[in-house]
Amino acid sequence: MPAVFEAESLSIQFTCDQRYVGGFIGSITIKQKWLSLLIEKWVDGIHTLAQVASCCLQTVYTGITMSLQAEWQYLCHVIPGFTKDLALVEAAICSNFLPALFSGSTSITIDNDFNHLLGHSVKMGGIRIHDPTQVINCLFEASKSAPSIFVENLVANSDFSVEAHSSQVCQSAVTMWHNHETEEGAFLKDLSLYNSGLWNHINTAKESGAWLMAMLQCLQLSAKEFQDTLRLCYSKQPLNLDDTYDSCCQQFLFEHAMLCKKGSLVMQWHKAGKQEWIAFAKLAYGKSLVGDKPKNFFGCNM
Ligand SMILES: [Zn+2]
Repeated sequence: MPAVFEAESLSIQFTCDQRYVGGFIGSITIKQKWLSLLIEKWVDGIHTLAQVASCCLQTVYTGITMSLQAEWQYLCHVIPGFTKDLALVEAAICSNFLPALFSGSTSITIDNDFNHLLGHSVKMGGIRIHDPTQVINCLFEASKSAPSIFVENLVANSDFSVEAHSSQVCQSAVTMWHNHETEEGAFLKDLSLYNSGLWNHINTAKESGAWLMAMLQCLQLSAKEFQDTLRLCYSKQPLNLDDTYDSCCQQFLFEHAMLCKKGSLVMQWHKAGKQEWIAFAKLAYGKSLVGDKPKNFFGCNM
């Protein structure tokens, strides 16, 4: 190929079979080898994260959603049609990572619907761990559409408008997210028809999922706190509960523990919160002015 350019007296730097701007240019065979190494590295990464999940669940979750997942999503933006290779990544997520996230060493079945739901954005009831085989096409189409005005200008050698280009880039991103939301909304609508219990939980989770988006330096949860909260979002009892609830000796179900008339967790947290506020108020106004019960003096103490 370089000889062709030289024959035409064109000064063009020609390279082949190598990585270029995060993607790959060259023969299909060598590209496949390069891809296979990447996929192997990502699958190893997923297994490693699953192995250490029991001690640092929130860090592991943040690692996959904010970092590792971004690596294959970037590649989806610049290389089309490697869905088959990504199936290995999806298999590792589904069979290894998600069970570690929800159940540790206890077994759990992640069926197709649940897996699909977990891939939703947080405000649509998911946890942002997308199935890469499902998103590859729309990510690539968005990246192809974003620079379309720029490419047209190059081909026609016409004047380039930065404003028109920026507007096209924004429009491509908005269209992609709008399509995502429409698809997720349709899935939730279907779910509401045949699993109303889970749907009710998801409706609550949609409005209280900020903890999943919080940066580690703003909110740190222990592995158990993270897992219990995650399980409750999806209508699953926390693991390792006692058989009976100690306030009333009935079977320990989370819903009962929250509302038990003999000593609910809601009341216990209310009392703990009250003591906290009393301590703050005493520091601000002085001990004699703050108490949790009115002082009634009677008899000779009056
Ligand atoms: Zn009870």
